[in-house]
Amino acid sequence: MIASSRKPRAFAPDPNAPGRFCDMPNCPNQGEFRAPKSRSTLREFHWFCLDHVRAYNASWDFYKDMSPEEIEANLRADSSWQRPTWPLGRLGGHSRMDEALEAELHAFAFGPRPKAPSQASAPPELREALSTLALDWPVTLDDVKTRYKELAKRHHPDANHGDKRSEERLKVINLAYATLRGKLASNLARTAETVAD
Ligand SMILES: [Zn+2]
Repeated sequence: MIASSRKPRAFAPDPNAPGRFCDMPNCPNQGEFRAPKSRSTLREFHWFCLDHVRAYNASWDFYKDMSPEEIEANLRADSSWQRPTWPLGRLGGHSRMDEALEAELHAFAFGPRPKAPSQASAPPELREALSTLALDWPVTLDDVKTRYKELAKRHHPDANHGDKRSEERLKVINLAYATLRGKLASNLARTAETVAD
């Protein structure tokens, strides 16, 4: 017996769906549910299957109530883990935030963008640490300290209900910080010697 589900749902297939496949790469389902492409282009839509529109909306909602600073920190923290980073620059205002959010949603829907070239010029032994702290190269000791404080606070187990994953993240962040701080401090010392000579 086939249950005809006529009860109201949070998501109903859009009668105006273009009749194509879900926009999520390699998804074999029909794209019957629409989702705005970004906050700045609310009239342009992706077409997803039910599972993917839910995931997309969840990702969207996740950033909804955050301040630009929080979003930026979050994008940077996240991008250092599963995804390559891309240059976001400083988020000066809402258009920068929209851009960052758009990049994040785009990455979610269509996969990561190419790795930012800014880390490619970094000394090879520092690239991983830079990527962990989501920093571009060149970088100052102050930049490193500031980012470290930000991330250490964010991933502190006390701030994450003792979450084991936050603890693991924090360990890697600590290690990256130690690597960069050590290298930059010794560079500074060398520069000071040169100046003293
Ligand atoms: Zn899908």
